[in-house]
Order: sequence, then structure tokens, then C-alpha cells
Amino acid sequence: MTEFGFIDHIRTLFAALPDNGFEGIGDDCAVLPLQGGESLLFTADLLTEGVHFLRHATTARELGCKSLAVNLSDVAAMGGRPVATLLSIALPADAAGAWAEEFMEGYRTLSEEYGVALIGGDTTASKGGVTINVTAIGRAADGCIKRRSGARPGDVLLTAGLLGESGAGLQDLLQGRCDTPCAAIHRMPRPQVDEGLWLGTRSEVTAMMDLSDGLASDVRHIMECSGVGADIDLERIPTAPGIDLRTAACAGEDYKLLLCAEASGVDSLMEAFEARFGAPLYPLGRITGTHELRWCEHGTPSPLDWQGFHHY
Ligand code: ADP
Ligand code: MG
Repeated sequence: MTEFGFIDHIRTLFAALPDNGFEGIGDDCAVLPLQGGESLLFTADLLTEGVHFLRHATTARELGCKSLAVNLSDVAAMGGRPVATLLSIALPADAAGAWAEEFMEGYRTLSEEYGVALIGGDTTASKGGVTINVTAIGRAADGCIKRRSGARPGDVLLTAGLLGESGAGLQDLLQGRCDTPCAAIHRMPRPQVDEGLWLGTRSEVTAMMDLSDGLASDVRHIMECSGVGADIDLERIPTAPGIDLRTAACAGEDYKLLLCAEASGVDSLMEAFEARFGAPLYPLGRITGTHELRWCEHGTPSPLDWQGFHHY
């Protein structure tokens, strides 16, 4: 069974159980509406040694930052503000001392930067490698929450940053080149927390998610959740300098926001974003009513069938 097949299985298995007021499985975060027009957001991500990271190719401090960053990115993807985390960690004997302390320093640095409290978790020994699970909690005004399900035919598809650096960095790491700029980005991605919060306040934005598995894979989540298709213009994919197009379109872990915006408001959205952040939003395609993903070359659909990303 694939990862997404298993998630579908879980969803079906639990469909008849009470939801207790939660909007559950399927988006970057689960949503619990509170009284007074605000909601809590919940998300969890697991990082396993040998699958998501190689201990010899990253410092403990970088991994501490990254473990938190990937969760903050999911809160940002819903338009929320991260407020607290729970951290569970399994440590083999050779990581239980100085390594674990350095890990926590990295985790604390990023927590401090975003004003996020660490409110609990669990610590255990491991007979295998290091395993880290972070649960992040966010808050959002109900009207600012952006879901994967809001895209409509005619919307413009955009990313809030250049793509492919993390994927190229992974290739560097796997080939033993640990000191390249892309390798550093792969080890320590910057979550778009401020950008997500700001985009949440913009009514032109109809749908949003973060790019963790690669554009080619993640855009399909917006398509499925919204019941739409997408045409992506190959020549407009915002490829980071020196990165090939396929890496930008398919490699994962960029943690840039992917969003849809009403066509009539997209110019003012882009102008305001650039004025606020000093960096552009990149329009790269359109939402369609076809239910398929098409990679277009200067307006003409190509036969490409690119898929997303697989970890190590
Ligand atoms: P993301 O990449 O944003 O972290 P995923 O693709 O990992 O999201 O997960 C998709 C959805 O499935 C999310 O809503 C997530 O909470 C849910 N999910 C993933 N694994 C499980 C699981 N083991 N049990 C319940 N829900 C899960
Ligand atoms: Mg996500």
C-alpha cells in the first residue's frame, strides 16, 4: 500500500466515528473551531533517521530547527499562527548526550524566533536510529483559514518562492557534497510563517498548502480536495538559479507555499505581496475544470507525466 493509499484506508476506517467538532484528516492541519471566530490548528510530522535525514550529513542543531520548521510550515499553509508544540524523540545511546542537547538548542532557536511554546512531548531510548515527532498547534481567525479544497476553475496557481534548491541539496548530500548552499537549505528549510499569515488575510486567496512532496505531487492534493484540474506552464515554473526544471517541479522539501487566487484579484495580490515581503509571488498555471494535471509548453499540453518526490 502506498502512503496515500494507507491514509485513505485510515480515513475510511474512522469515517463513522464521532469527529467531536474537528475537521480532520486531509489538509495540512486539522481544524477545531472555538467560540468567538477563532480556530485551533493541529499538525504532526515524523522524521526518521535514514529516511528523512542522515545523521552524518546534518548537525544536531540543524535537525532541531528542521523538525520544528516542517511543522510550522503546515500551520502557515492554513493561514495560521503557530503557538505551541509537543516534541517526542527516540534517542539511541550515541545520541543521548551532547547530540540531544545540541538538537534542543536548534529547536529552541526556531521556537524563540516564532514565539512558539514547547508544552510537552515524550522521550525514550531507541534500539535503532533517531526518530522525532513534532505536533504543532496554531491559531487562526476562522475567516483567514485557507484550505486545499477552495480552488475553482479559472483561479491562478502561484508559489511564494523559487523551487528546487532543497531537491538539488539532497542530491549534493547523497553525493557527499555537504557544504553547498543548496545542501544547507535542504538541512535547514525556512518555513514561510509570516507569508502564510499574511496570505490568510487576503480574500483573493482561495486555496493554499505547503510544498513538502514536490509540486508534481502536491498540486494533485489541491486538485483532489477541490475537484478541479490544473495546467502548469513549464516555462513559468520558478526554478532557482542553476537548478534543472525537473528537480524544481518534482523534488520535495521546498516548504514554499502553493496557493490559488481569483484571476480578477491576482495582480493586486502579487503587487501587495511584493511590497510586503520584497520578493514576488510566482504565477505558474491555472486551475481548470478537467480533473487532470497538464504540463504545458507555451500553451500546448505536453506528454510529460512527472510525479513527485520520494525520500532517500
Ligand atoms: P503534509 O505533507 O501536509 O504533512 P500528509 O501528506 O503527510 O500532509 O498527510 C495528509 C493528511 O493525512 C493530513 O491531513 C494528515 O494529518 C493525515 N495523516 C497522515 N498520516 C496519518 C495517520 N497515520 N493517521 C491519521 N491521519 C494521517
Ligand atoms: Mg503540508
